Amino acid sequence: MQIIAKCPICKSSWILDEKNQDRRVKCINCRHIFRIPKLEEIPKAADVIKRAKSSVYVDESGKTFG
Ligand SMILES: [Zn+2]
Repeated sequence: MQIIAKCPICKSSWILDEKNQDRRVKCINCRHIFRIPKLEEIPKAADVIKRAKSSVYVDESGKTFG
């Protein structure tokens, strides 16, 4: 599975491997560092993951979308 991370600062998004969950990543655009939440910690993630065929969108606060 892939995680599509959304930067909370510049709102750009890009694809990460799921192994990056629970890690800090640097935005490719503005270089802001933010944490990718663990997918299991996100209440809504389960539903999103079920709907998503191969990727899930997530931002720093644990919001999932897509
Ligand atoms: Zn950014």
